[in-house]
Amino acid sequence: MGKHVFIETYGCQMNEHDSERMLRLLEGVSYSETKEAKEADLILINTCSVREKPEHKVYSALGRFKKLKEEKGTIIGVAGCVAQQEGERLLDRIPYLDMVIGTQAIPALPNLVKKVEALGQRVCETGFDANGEYLKTPLPQKPPVVGSIRLVKVKSYVTIMQGCDRFCSFCIVPYVRGRERSLPSYEIIEEVKDLAETGVKEVCLLGQNVNGYGKGIGGELGFSELLHRINEVNGIERIRFTSSHPADLSEELIQAFTELTKLCDHIHLPFQSGSSRILKAMHRGYTKESYLEKIDRLKEVCPSIALTADVIVGFTGEEEMDFEETLELLQRVRFDDLFSFKYSPRKGTRAAQYEDRVEEKVKQDRLTILQGIQKEITLQKNQALVGSVEEILVEGRSKQSDRDVTGRTRSNKVVNFEGDLGIVGKLVHVRITKAFPHSLRGETA
Ligand code: SF4
Repeated sequence: MGKHVFIETYGCQMNEHDSERMLRLLEGVSYSETKEAKEADLILINTCSVREKPEHKVYSALGRFKKLKEEKGTIIGVAGCVAQQEGERLLDRIPYLDMVIGTQAIPALPNLVKKVEALGQRVCETGFDANGEYLKTPLPQKPPVVGSIRLVKVKSYVTIMQGCDRFCSFCIVPYVRGRERSLPSYEIIEEVKDLAETGVKEVCLLGQNVNGYGKGIGGELGFSELLHRINEVNGIERIRFTSSHPADLSEELIQAFTELTKLCDHIHLPFQSGSSRILKAMHRGYTKESYLEKIDRLKEVCPSIALTADVIVGFTGEEEMDFEETLELLQRVRFDDLFSFKYSPRKGTRAAQYEDRVEEKVKQDRLTILQGIQKEITLQKNQALVGSVEEILVEGRSKQSDRDVTGRTRSNKVVNFEGDLGIVGKLVHVRITKAFPHSLRGETA
């Protein structure tokens, strides 16, 4: 009988995609996925150390799974950024932990599991892979058929590069994911073609800084050229990417939003602070003014573009006037959505040594104010769509009702409307009838 693996994932899309890769590799050695930890023979926690909260969650998850280890000998492994950062220390700290799998050790996972199963060894693999071999993804299998309906996977992530060379002063990524490495373009295009053959309609290209794609490989395509090639793949209807660094956002990439029919009109462009003084301390490599110039250019080239971003409040040294500048930037750009966080120093980063920390209460107050303003803007932007007809890629059954399906606009907004499962994977036109803070309601146009 096959064995079961339960994977709990924290953090970004890169981690979600890594979890999917781990699952595919384990399927090759007779594991299948379970959504119930208590049914699992193997539990993997794919971790994130970019912010404080997800890092803490890892330790509480390990606490929850301890009982399963004691009762039925479940194998427990930690993967991802915390694994990379802590390495052997995790094994010392958690006596019932069997495996530590670093960010670039994913291809070794089946062998690591075998070692634990056969020899009862505790294993730790956290070496960096300079050739980027770990990026190569086992191809997805043909979608399964349930009854008469083929369960189509409509969207897929495609990792095109990993790591980051920018070393923002607050960020742990260059230390836990290593320096930038890009996958050769021909392999990416092959993967996208294979995904299209299985029924995938939308690909989201992933990397810590996708704009840096191709740097360091002689003769390789740049990122906007790569987008042009993917735009030609038959069967793919939509292309997205994340994440972009404002300093590396080129005019060619901005132009791609008008030139490429399949490139969705949405960009996630983290600004982190509206104060040039704080941006300098963050070592971001741009000013408030240069960020706004790029935003203006994007709006000029693609007036319908949706904008989302990340922002940190309470960075060390942030004064009231810096925070005011952040709020001004929010009002000026009017983001469709914003991912906002309180600054927490990450061990090993340059900013962790900065003095002049902002008090916790001040950080919380600033976050509350900022989130309140953004909530209003997001709702207003959603309300502005009521009455318009949007192209929706239908993804599946809505969680809210058995009669509804769910999908996303080209600008990445969730829309629920009445429909049957036969239209999953199709592009349909939907008139927006109602706006909520996090979704829209519509009817087939
Ligand atoms: S660009 Fe900065 S914030 Fe983004 S991953 Fe690289 S170092 Fe981290």
